[in-house]
Amino acid sequence: MLQEMTPFFAPLLFLLGAVVGSFLNVCIARLPSGKSVVFPSSHCPVCQKPIRWFDNIPLFSYCLLGAKCRDCKTRISIRYFLVEFLTALMFLGTFYLLGLAPILFPVLVWEGLLIVATFVDFEHRIIPDELSLWGIPAGILLSFLLPGLQLDRAMAGPVVGWAVSLLLVSFCALLMLSSAWMKRRSLSIEERRILLGGYGVVLLQYGILFLASWDQTRADAWSSLAASLEGGVIGGAALLALGLLGEVLIRKRIVTPFDLETITGEKDRLFKALQSAGYLDEGGEVQKKFSLLKKAQDLELPPEWGEIREKIYEVIVSCVDGGVMGGGDVKLMALVGVFIGWELALLAIIIAPFLGAPVGIIEKIRTKSSALAFGPYLAMGSLIAFFWGHQIIRSYMGLFPNL
Ligand SMILES: [Zn+2]
Repeated sequence: MLQEMTPFFAPLLFLLGAVVGSFLNVCIARLPSGKSVVFPSSHCPVCQKPIRWFDNIPLFSYCLLGAKCRDCKTRISIRYFLVEFLTALMFLGTFYLLGLAPILFPVLVWEGLLIVATFVDFEHRIIPDELSLWGIPAGILLSFLLPGLQLDRAMAGPVVGWAVSLLLVSFCALLMLSSAWMKRRSLSIEERRILLGGYGVVLLQYGILFLASWDQTRADAWSSLAASLEGGVIGGAALLALGLLGEVLIRKRIVTPFDLETITGEKDRLFKALQSAGYLDEGGEVQKKFSLLKKAQDLELPPEWGEIREKIYEVIVSCVDGGVMGGGDVKLMALVGVFIGWELALLAIIIAPFLGAPVGIIEKIRTKSSALAFGPYLAMGSLIAFFWGHQIIRSYMGLFPNL
């Protein structure tokens, strides 16, 4: 029956994707600057004239207007078309892969969140907090209402997931303590909050697992809820652990002459100037004098470097707190985990560097910058893990027939 309905639903899913993509465009344009995505209605960013309803039709209007604003003829970014087209294709593809399953709706919501994260991260190198703020509770709620979302894809039982959550949060605690000890400071308020929150959710999972064994009629819903929470904690904690490991092992609080060469074109003179001004020590480690600065203008530099103050400041800040992984990626993987469970979230983290590495290498050669937006690759890795994760794991295990 449903099989016969496919020709009817396929174009609808494509259209739905285009319309949703049009809304995602608004989110991508407005979330990074903290504007509301609902009000005011769409308007041209240059001439501020509102966009007429017939100029706001997904896919078509972009082509009809020739990628220009009707009023001021300013070019409209190709991103608007790309996002609408990509969302439409993804919705259609998801429909073909899942069919008209109950979990189709949560998966489409999840894909929308990933698309916004991807495009904002590409452009601004941040992932807006609003995505995880709304997405994580949504994923948890949807897992409770539609247990298939978690249980159809879970490989290990929920108790294993609980044990892994506890281990990973404890591992993060250990890394935070070592990092704090190495820098001779106590845990920051943020670190304390993260650990408290992590252990809190692990405790909550324990309670829900208990409920699952006690309330047999809703056992599936409770197990799925626990699995969703486990996915969130493990996805986030795994990425946090990677970042902390980088901090402990690599200790990237050091500015090298090479970092400065990317802005000035020469290595040593600026490095020496920063050392003699007391911002860096002999090894390039950032000194307290710099850490106390609030903005680039306060950087006291010889006049010849005054013009590029902003850039110098930016580079030093990125060396100090850039770390290996941004906090946005941690929240993104927590968001992924609550939708697809911990096993597939971990697989996504393993896949992502393979997708990002080729681009990272090209960028490194092109711009000599090693800062790479990792979010888009995590998002792509998550989609691959969700749809083909089981096949990937099975064929990988097939390489070791003796196990
Ligand atoms: Zn305009």
